[in-house]
Formats: sequence, structure tokens, C-alpha cells
Amino acid sequence: MRTVYLNGDYLPENEAKVSIFDRGFLMADGIYEVTSVLDGKLIDFDGHAKRLQRSMDELDMRSPIAMDDLLEVHRELVRKNEIDEGMIYLQITRGAPDDRDFVFPDPDTTEPTIVLFTQNKPGLANSPMAKKGMKVISIEDQRWARRDIKTVQLLYPSMAKMAAKAQGKDDAWMVEDGAVTEGSSNNAYIVKGNTIITRHLGNEILHGITRAAVLRFAKEAQMKVEERSFTIAEAQDADEAFVTSASTFVMPVVEIDDVAVGEGAPGPVVARLREIYLDEMRKAAI
Ligand code: PMP
Repeated sequence: MRTVYLNGDYLPENEAKVSIFDRGFLMADGIYEVTSVLDGKLIDFDGHAKRLQRSMDELDMRSPIAMDDLLEVHRELVRKNEIDEGMIYLQITRGAPDDRDFVFPDPDTTEPTIVLFTQNKPGLANSPMAKKGMKVISIEDQRWARRDIKTVQLLYPSMAKMAAKAQGKDDAWMVEDGAVTEGSSNNAYIVKGNTIITRHLGNEILHGITRAAVLRFAKEAQMKVEERSFTIAEAQDADEAFVTSASTFVMPVVEIDDVAVGEGAPGPVVARLREIYLDEMRKAAI
């Protein structure tokens, strides 16, 4: 049984309870982060902590924990649950007022709820999908307009994932006004020659922590980076395609809406980026 963290306490997972009035439960009034663990160490904790703070600022939410303490909680959960490879899920909600109300509760009397738990994933960095590549479908992006805030409103991405599964595919790329925004739970990229193309930052996509690192490594490896919109047709015509996220790192995409990308198999640029990312991030893990 896992040990989880809830509002200052380490508890067995079946003893951690949250109120039915919690605004995360009633209104999806909550934000989250997922940090991966390799070799028992945290990957890019700093990036995730910064984005967490930004999500809270955007929603006028007060942090229930100092960032130094947050690092310690992550590390303690890794230790207690003996995680070598896996993820740590963190969620903060606006807390549980006495009753349901659209008005935000007074932060002086209603404390945020903070929950962290581990997900043990032996072999995370050695995923067979990295050799096989993912098949994706495209689907209209019907999420709200502030996708840059990492909220727990994951119903539409979950529906998109189910639509992909129903067609025997692995994931969905969402499309708005004819351009790809991002994957259901990852940022989307195409490769043309020596150029990596991925959508520019804005309110339309999540500012991936993995994205920032991968683009930095790509530039250091003398690849060209273009941050701009692209269409599904352009992606189908690309040499390679891939996605990034904290839990999948760099993952090749080999098919989009039944059309093979490039050779229809993971290509050399994606393989190289994945290797650089994993090497560099393992070295910098804390
Ligand atoms: N976009 C969306 C919609 C996501 O859910 C995620 C993963 N949480 C990402 C992008 C990738 O972000 P990160 O690299 O920070 O995990």
C-alpha cells in the first residue's frame, strides 16, 4: 500500500480522505503537476515548481506550502514508497468551504487542499513505445481557453484519449482553427530535415516543462527550432513526429489519421533527442 501526503500528513492511501465540499471535487477548482522520477531522483523539479506557482497565481490561489518544503515532501514520498522509476502526482485545490458556492471562499478561513501520491513505473525510461512509436488521431480541440494553466479539468482530454482508443490508436492530437494545438496530455512536434517545429506558446497550450528542456537541447545540438502552428496535413508530410511530456519524455509518433509519418517507424532525430533528454536530465536530477 502506498504512503501518500495529504495536508501535512503522511498516510496510508486508504486513510487519506477529502471533503465532499472540496472545490476540486465540485468545480475542478484545482491544479496539478506530474514530476517523473528516474534513479530515485526528481526530474526537473524546479521547472514543475515554477509552473505550479504560476498556475496558482493565475487562479488567485494561495500556496499551502513553501517550495523548499514541497521538494522535501516529494523526496520523502520517493523514499517511503521506494520509487526508482515512476511519477509523483501533486494536486492543490482551493479547499473545502462549508457549502457549495460559486464565490471563491475566504482564503483566511478555507485552506487549500494539497495531495501528493507516487506512481511506481519500473521501466518508465525503457518504454517499448519509444521503439514502436505512437499512432494518433486528430480531434477538434474543445477544451476551455486557458490551457496554459494546468488545471484538473481533464474531461475533454480524457474523451479525446478514449476516441483514439476506440479507433485502436494510442492518442489524439487536438486541432483548433485548422492547426494542431497539442496532444491529449503532451506537446506535439514535427521534424523536417534539421528543423523541429512545435506550436508557439500562448493560452492555447500547456507550457510543457519537457518542451522547454527539449527545445534547449535541440538548439544546443545545432538543430533549428521553429515555434509556430502546423496543420495535420503538414504533419503527415513531415519526416518525423513526436510528443513530449514529463512521464513519456520524448516519444515518437509514426502515424497520424491512418497516414504513416516518414518511414512509418521512429526516426533518427527523435531517437537522438530522447537520448539527449534522458542523459542530461538524469545528470541534473535531484
Ligand atoms: N500538454 C498537455 C495538455 C499536458 O497535459 C501535458 C502533460 N501534463 C503536457 C502538454 C506536457 O507537459 P510537461 O512536459 O510539463 O509534462
